[in-house]
Amino acid sequence: NENRSLNFIHQIIEKDIEEGTYGGEVYTRFPPEPNGYLHIGHAKSICLNFTTAQKYGGRTNLRYDDTNPVKEDMEYVDSIEEDVKWLGFTWDKRLWASDYFDTMYEAAMELIRKGLAYVDDLSPDQIREYRGTLKEPGKESPCRSQSAEEAAALFERMRAGEFADGERVLRAKIDMASPNINMRDPVIYRIAHTHHHNTGDKWCIYPMYDFAHPIEDAIEGITHSICTLEFEDHRPLYDWVLKNVGFWPHPPKQIEFARLNLTNTVMSKRLLKALVDDGTVEGWDDPRMPTIAGLRRRGYTPQAIRTFCEEIGVAKSNSTIDIAMLEHFVRDDLKDKVENRNVVEDPIKVVITNYPEGRTEMVEVENNRNVPEMGNREIPFSREIYIDGADFMEVPVKKYFRLFPGNEVRVKGAYFIKCEDVIKNPDGTIKELHCTYDPQTRSGNGFEGRKVKGTIHFVDAATAVPVRVRNYNYLYVENEQGEQVLNPDSVEEKICYAEPSLAEAKPGERFQFFRHGYYIADEKLTNDREKVFNRIVDLKSSFKP
Ligand code: ATP
Ligand code: MG
Ligand code: MG
Repeated sequence: NENRSLNFIHQIIEKDIEEGTYGGEVYTRFPPEPNGYLHIGHAKSICLNFTTAQKYGGRTNLRYDDTNPVKEDMEYVDSIEEDVKWLGFTWDKRLWASDYFDTMYEAAMELIRKGLAYVDDLSPDQIREYRGTLKEPGKESPCRSQSAEEAAALFERMRAGEFADGERVLRAKIDMASPNINMRDPVIYRIAHTHHHNTGDKWCIYPMYDFAHPIEDAIEGITHSICTLEFEDHRPLYDWVLKNVGFWPHPPKQIEFARLNLTNTVMSKRLLKALVDDGTVEGWDDPRMPTIAGLRRRGYTPQAIRTFCEEIGVAKSNSTIDIAMLEHFVRDDLKDKVENRNVVEDPIKVVITNYPEGRTEMVEVENNRNVPEMGNREIPFSREIYIDGADFMEVPVKKYFRLFPGNEVRVKGAYFIKCEDVIKNPDGTIKELHCTYDPQTRSGNGFEGRKVKGTIHFVDAATAVPVRVRNYNYLYVENEQGEQVLNPDSVEEKICYAEPSLAEAKPGERFQFFRHGYYIADEKLTNDREKVFNRIVDLKSSFKP
């Protein structure tokens, strides 16, 4: 059975194609509410909607779900479009749900005429109370016995602005005893005397999501309306609305899948907005943020995100994915594409006492060990170099093969050096190391005389370029109670020394800092004067594919 390799959504779609339910068409939509920046969870939804349509020669709309008038902002609209395009997708139409307010109003009137909706004057608290619980049926509102004429007149008055916010609502008349609480006469229109970014002050009544969404889908001819699992219990209402407002017998089909959850990550626009507003992060595009804008600035590639979304698949029950898996696909995408550069963190100066003063030679190092075609580059080497702070231990721990007093290591691309002396500052800190080198051991000479166990890297002291490096850790960590809490050490910023070519790094350029990790020149902060690099991801992986 070839269906076995298809995810359950594709199986539903293939059945619909086979049976000609929608004339063989596949039309999906991505429906963000423009009240924040998109995050990695939205990326999952974007990839699923767009690639599903692509697979079947279909189309996908970008539709702003802007039926809730209070929170929208054009900054969010621009960011959403940039993010969808950056992920590599092209929408068929860009639409606003608020453009359908007239049709939605007509649809509500249609329900009223059919005796399927009434205007209720219970307070929000009473409505909640009357709705009942899972164990006991709901109680009918006195307004439920309204005639269609009365309901129509009251709804007109709601529209005309005769009531204050919360004084009346329009409710669908379904079943107060339904085991599904969503079907116990849900509110479908509410009053909000609020200016709307698109419709201005034309409306003071706004449709509720469960009423609006199926109508939006139906108007656009969406065939498969993919949403997250929380809406599974709302599906009977989705179908009820379409059936009773006349979008039948081929209404769009709502299909639910499990939302993406990631370890070390909060994914709620509300919580992310709070981090921005209270200054915990630099902005929506802070490289620690799980927003698409943040991941982009961090240096993640669209390809890595798309591969991740593809590989995690679609599930029908909620679970949490290890963020190490996302990082794995980022490394995997970069490993054959970006060049190495030598950058030294927590630098220690090394003076090679037997190397001629005033001499500089160029030594060759490979640009990418995985890809020989990417060639080599030359970097300067001289009597004074810097090495990584982590590559020296005055008192080595067990199995430490890098530099320590009396030990010899290979300096990648150059020579073997041996640590002869540790020179201290008056305060006891290390000022510099005095080493000797062996001219016979020059890289490429084929020296076989003896072996060393450690290889370290370096930059030439005279030509080193100071760069600002931001090593990111997770924004959220788990505490002992298993809760996600803000990590007080989510970024470590340092001045590091880089080989000379990094003075030319362009904003957005990516490199592997040899032995350290993948880095990107920050798009906003890198300029002619200063180079700022964000750590995209380190080199080691705890994820086993
Ligand atoms: P949040 O609660 O994080 O703000 P939302 O669902 O309120 O998200 P919307 O703008 O309404 O945000 O979402 C647009 C689409 O993205 C919806 O179809 C929604 O189901 C989907 N989506 C949101 N979060 C996730 C997630 N974590 N995984 C998969 N899909 C998601
Ligand atoms: Mg939503
Ligand atoms: Mg939300």
